[in-house]
Amino acid sequence: MKYIDEYRNAELVKKTAAEIHRTVTRPWTLMEICGGQTHAIMHFGLDQLLPPEIVLVHGPGCPVCVTPLEQIDKALAIAAMPNVIFTSYGDMLRVPGSDQDLFAVRAMGGDVRVVYSPLDAVKIAQQNPDKEVVFFAIGFETTAPANAMSVAQAKALGVPNFSVLISHVRVPQAMHAILSAPHNQVQGFLAAGHVCAVMGFWEYPPIAAQYDVPIVVTGFEPLDILQGILTAVRQLEAGEAKVENAYARAVTREGNLPAQALINQVFMECDRKWRGIGMIPESGWCLRPEYAAFDAENRFDVGQINPEEPSQCIAGMILQGVTKPNECPAFGKECTPEHPLGATMVSNEGACAAYYRYKPDLIG
Ligand code: SF4
Repeated sequence: MKYIDEYRNAELVKKTAAEIHRTVTRPWTLMEICGGQTHAIMHFGLDQLLPPEIVLVHGPGCPVCVTPLEQIDKALAIAAMPNVIFTSYGDMLRVPGSDQDLFAVRAMGGDVRVVYSPLDAVKIAQQNPDKEVVFFAIGFETTAPANAMSVAQAKALGVPNFSVLISHVRVPQAMHAILSAPHNQVQGFLAAGHVCAVMGFWEYPPIAAQYDVPIVVTGFEPLDILQGILTAVRQLEAGEAKVENAYARAVTREGNLPAQALINQVFMECDRKWRGIGMIPESGWCLRPEYAAFDAENRFDVGQINPEEPSQCIAGMILQGVTKPNECPAFGKECTPEHPLGATMVSNEGACAAYYRYKPDLIG
């Protein structure tokens, strides 16, 4: 198949769903890692096509959702400083910090700008040498190459007024955390295709072997997702736990080696807090010492910011596949996309926003 609409072909979707029905004999709980997959499942009603034995739970692969509150509060503090141009992808502007969001900082006079690439932020820094220009570098492995490139480029071009506020997280360590938690229900993973396009899937076989779970690299179109589910269910029914690639048109085992080399040049592993989940050892990337001068946390005095997360929001349990958004008492009541209490209701990839948009009948 060559074109995207072929992966939405209704006949092929029905055929694949029927094959899942024929294959399954008992209950299985699968987690789609990526929020983009969650939205595709809700948008196309794929969960309605599955047999009742298959339960899909929604994983932590939404970068906006897992950026910890303390990084949001640090971003707000830096963005409010005079002489700072704070740059970010647009979806971070509405993420609630402890008291406000970046839109509010902008409304009060902060110079907060949306950019489409961190390289644009480097250009803004070159054009404004008398200002400090900060880029909010969040995300999984997918955004890491561009963020690494911006830092490498700022160093190579000698742009001293550019820095990055980093909140990078990694998928394999999150899978370890989910699978080793006492409340874990996940028996198989649909791995995030775009993360694997960068990183490959060479890191996954030890995880599949250690926890005895199938891991299927899966894309984002309806047929991709159903094929990923079918592949995982076939393994579970056969008592297997392998890594398989159901997204071969975009992913190889090795991944994008030049992108990985750039990441390794600029970043190193570090412990990282995940919003609602807490600290996961070695689950993040931080700047290597030779790039430390570009770390906004070193440049601005924000190290003491360490807020408590509000107890009302149970997004952490949702992101680990323990509960579903409609089981949150605030879902659709105190918490809506217009007045979000947590990041999973803000982000386009957030599970709570997906349920609010595509499953309004579940609002109690
Ligand atoms: S519905 Fe709102 S409060 Fe509840 S978990 Fe989702 S984001 Fe948090």
